[in-house]
Amino acid sequence: MNRLFRRFAVLVTLSISVAAVIAYFAMSWLFGDPQESIARRQAAGQIFLLEQYVDQAPADEWLGRLNKVREVSEVRFDLLPLAAARQLLPASTRAAFERGEVVIDVRHKAFLRRVDLIGERYIGSNEEAIHAQDLPIDVGLALKMEAVRYLIVALVVLVPIAAWSRAHWRSLQKLAQMADEFGQGQLTARVHLPASEAIHPLAECFNHMAERIERLLDAQSSLLHSVSHEIRTPIARLEFALELLRDAAQSPALEERIAAMEGDLHELNQLVSELLGMIRMGDQPLKRERFDLAETLRSVADSLPPAAPALDVLVADNVDSYRGDRRLLLRAVCNLMRNAQKYAATRVALSAARRLDGVRIVVEDDGPGIPQAEREKIFDPFYRLDRSRDRSTGGFGLGLSIARKAIELHGGAIAVDSSPMGGARFTIRLPTD
Ligand code: ADP
Repeated sequence: MNRLFRRFAVLVTLSISVAAVIAYFAMSWLFGDPQESIARRQAAGQIFLLEQYVDQAPADEWLGRLNKVREVSEVRFDLLPLAAARQLLPASTRAAFERGEVVIDVRHKAFLRRVDLIGERYIGSNEEAIHAQDLPIDVGLALKMEAVRYLIVALVVLVPIAAWSRAHWRSLQKLAQMADEFGQGQLTARVHLPASEAIHPLAECFNHMAERIERLLDAQSSLLHSVSHEIRTPIARLEFALELLRDAAQSPALEERIAAMEGDLHELNQLVSELLGMIRMGDQPLKRERFDLAETLRSVADSLPPAAPALDVLVADNVDSYRGDRRLLLRAVCNLMRNAQKYAATRVALSAARRLDGVRIVVEDDGPGIPQAEREKIFDPFYRLDRSRDRSTGGFGLGLSIARKAIELHGGAIAVDSSPMGGARFTIRLPTD
């Protein structure tokens, strides 16, 4: 049963139940208690007998006729003193009783009526009431029939809704699947629904949106790609020219200037290489292979400069092999570790463990951490916090976006929060391989 139908079913059932309650009270208000009118209909035979046979008898035969009815009927007809009869009645029916009307007692399957208002049937008949009991009244059955009627209405309403919601649910699921695939980077994902489907226009809007995003991303990546590529040639030419200039340089001041320019060029070269690397990462398929993840993580720690912050490595025993692109994963963890080393005050920790839903790798430090408002933005290319804009700590602001891309290509996720150690804590979640 789909979720759409479940919601409708609950709504329809609730509406019909509310309608039944409203109908009951409306009927009571407009036409009197429906239970009483059901009971009156069911006791109509006995009431008819009393009014049309017994009451029509001449004054001296009234009791005789009543006795005849008693003999043949399964209903008990008793005569009660008025005071006792009044005690049996609720206040709301008393006035009708005093007027000489038949008053139904639904709960006890009985009715009461004064024998006579002016005492002409027999001596004292105006002081007595007739109490009929064991009447063939079954209000429960009538109510059950009413409930079955509402149930049939509910079912008849729900059947077309079920068919309608089934078709819509399937289309919605296709739409959700396409949005999911698109969100995971499959930019060619589209949804195809027949034009007769009610949500066809919505699907078309999704497709147009996806097309535009795909085109924009394509344009962005090819622009970045071409610019980075084109820049390489003038850089190479500049390097060559500086080399020649250095050979011809006469003064130490000029040599120093040339060295600074070479430094800048080297930095530019690095930036271009990183950019190209990042763009290619998305273009090329992953080179998935099974490798020893524990050993790879330990090698990250070994490859870092043994400098200042102390390094704790804790790789759980359940982390063994993993199927993925070793080079990319290594790059992601290395980028996080290098940042942690850069910003830590005294300590950096790398830990990893395998869980039910995959592998979790955590890199944390005791540095300044990352303010809440910046935690999403730092994964954008070229985004750096103000404090890292100086040369000594800052890179190009590409390290984290490269790490995120590498992890997302594996179907995983990377997030940052604050570490109990005081600084930033980066958590990589890789899905089960
Ligand atoms: P960069 O090359 O500038 O380090 P990244 O993309 O690796 O670029 O990081 C983006 C920014 O996030 C950094 O400039 C820095 O401000 C911040 N950052 C990254 N890691 C840490 C960390 N462990 N502690 C504090 N800030 C960090």
